[in-house]
Amino acid sequence: MALSHDDYPYLYETHLHTSFASKCASNTGAEMAKAAKDAGYTGIFVTDHHWGGNCAIDRSLPWDKWVDGFCAGYYDAKECGDKIGLDVFFGWESGFNGTEFLIYGLTPEWMREHPELRCPWGEDPDPSWDLTPEKQYKLIKEAGGMMIHAHPFREEWYIPETRLYPDHVDGVEIINATHSSPLSKSHNDPGFDDKAIVYAAEHDLPGTAGSDVHSTTMFGGGVAFRNKLVSAADYCNAIMNGGDYILTNGVNWFDKRGRKII
Ligand SMILES: [Zn+2]
Ligand SMILES: [Zn+2]
Repeated sequence: MALSHDDYPYLYETHLHTSFASKCASNTGAEMAKAAKDAGYTGIFVTDHHWGGNCAIDRSLPWDKWVDGFCAGYYDAKECGDKIGLDVFFGWESGFNGTEFLIYGLTPEWMREHPELRCPWGEDPDPSWDLTPEKQYKLIKEAGGMMIHAHPFREEWYIPETRLYPDHVDGVEIINATHSSPLSKSHNDPGFDDKAIVYAAEHDLPGTAGSDVHSTTMFGGGVAFRNKLVSAADYCNAIMNGGDYILTNGVNWFDKRGRKII
């Protein structure tokens, strides 16, 4: 029997930015939550740009205050989501000189206890901040989280080179709707995803999809399930342990290897 997206009615946006913590984003957490609900999503993961990325929070703040500012977009989205019936989960997008990772399954409280998440990218790096993608992976795994390589083959001015970490990620964002959605105004090249699909298959890494949305213009990308997720941990478990899900860029549907199904 052919795989049909009708059998996967629970769609999650796994890559979404808010203007609270992402300099490049246009809308608040609440606005993003409303737009996602209207677009038919069951839930969203708020993944703002962290320390080494295009983060809007003043890096001279004490760590706990910085984390409070960083998490404001998530809390704003969550408060709204609770009212309108949209599940809102916490995540973030870490940056290492243009190489980015999506982190899932951990909490703001955990982040507050881990100032070593500061990395040498961003303003005025302190020599004690020596986080690398490998060290971050170890930290995330010890805490029970999941780390996905975001858009590994995007080519853009802010990404000096493609750097791959097949042994230090749990999966690969093989469909990034910003690359292929007709609604996207940046990074338009579906070829970036084609390369990611090949890369993930070569290393037998599970594939994920997200839109990388920065405004209320929802692209409709994400990961779809047969059943509703009960938690962010549930999402991590499905991705890392061969769960039943499909992917979309908002236009087409794909299996978890990136093969078009409809
Ligand atoms: Zn951004
Ligand atoms: Zn992003």
